[in-house]
Amino acid sequence: MLGFLKKKLKNAVEEVKKKVGSETPEEVKPKISKKAPKISKKPVSKKQVRKEVIEEETQKLGFRERVKQRFIKKISASEFEEIFFEFEMALLENNVAQEVVEKLKLDMKKEFVGEETKKRRTLEKVILDSFNEILIEGKFKIPTKKPFVCMFIGVNGVGKTTSMAKLAYYLQKKKKKLVFAASDTFRAASIEQLEKHGNKLKIKVIKHSYGADAAAVSFDAINYAKKHNLNFVLIDTAGRMHSNKNLMDELKKIKRVSNPDFVFFVADSLTGNDAVNQAKTFNEEIGFDGIILTKSDVDQKGGAIISVSYVTGKPIYFLGMGQNYKDLKPFKKQEILNKII
Ligand code: GDP
Repeated sequence: MLGFLKKKLKNAVEEVKKKVGSETPEEVKPKISKKAPKISKKPVSKKQVRKEVIEEETQKLGFRERVKQRFIKKISASEFEEIFFEFEMALLENNVAQEVVEKLKLDMKKEFVGEETKKRRTLEKVILDSFNEILIEGKFKIPTKKPFVCMFIGVNGVGKTTSMAKLAYYLQKKKKKLVFAASDTFRAASIEQLEKHGNKLKIKVIKHSYGADAAAVSFDAINYAKKHNLNFVLIDTAGRMHSNKNLMDELKKIKRVSNPDFVFFVADSLTGNDAVNQAKTFNEEIGFDGIILTKSDVDQKGGAIISVSYVTGKPIYFLGMGQNYKDLKPFKKQEILNKII
């Protein structure tokens, strides 16, 4: 994951360094010696004397310094476009959202194009600072409120039910008691799937029949949790295409009725740009508090991880790293930054 980006960034960094150097201009300005210039028989102007001194001093600089000195300058907008093009293509091919590409471009442009400034960050620093703003990390603190109601939303097949079961396992390790609400009353076999997890994890599943009102299931589960003094209610919902208005309306109803304390949006990182578009729509239509990105164990590109929190402004809390209960990893921004540069 993110190997592509590291490689492309390295290339881009080298390219830009060739043009702009990596240090501040003052660092490599040739030092002008106070020594008097050689006396020439011909009368020379003060300006020419100064020029000769600079040339002489410059010759004394090592090759590396001379190269640096030549390229220590801001680059033109067209030079920048040329350098950024390949990098931009690589980002887009690897499913990094357009908005993120634009931000990176703007940040780099601000630093290197146009008027020369005295203090300049290195290119690596500019890129790291940008990614630091792009990625939002969420820390799931165990709440004291009882019951704490979490609702899971997302498109079919992204790993919603599996992630819910993984989170349940994670919370059980912290000695929390839970109940599942089988509010996916739409997809055949979804209730059985949740019951399998319930049996393995020894968690009660509140269910109605298929086609029943999904909001009523979550309502019953919350009452069950209150009655049994449980810590958490985890509500599974039917996966729906974000373009399906009726199903989205049903989801809104579950949210209205159960009034969850936290809504997790679950997305499959393998679907890249699709995951990003789903996140945008679900955020606008339903609204959510945090993101779980599944299948990160098999995601080679990393575009969804990079983009999904930036386009929604919502933090990533967990990454799904496999099919077992233990494969839910709290999201750590620093790990991604380390992978990038
Ligand atoms: P739902 O329809 O959104 O509830 O999706 P499911 O929970 O049924 O998951 C769909 C498939 O994705 C199942 O085969 C899961 O085992 C698999 N899956 C879920 N999360 C992960 C993950 O983090 N990594 C991998 N490799 N597979 C996952």
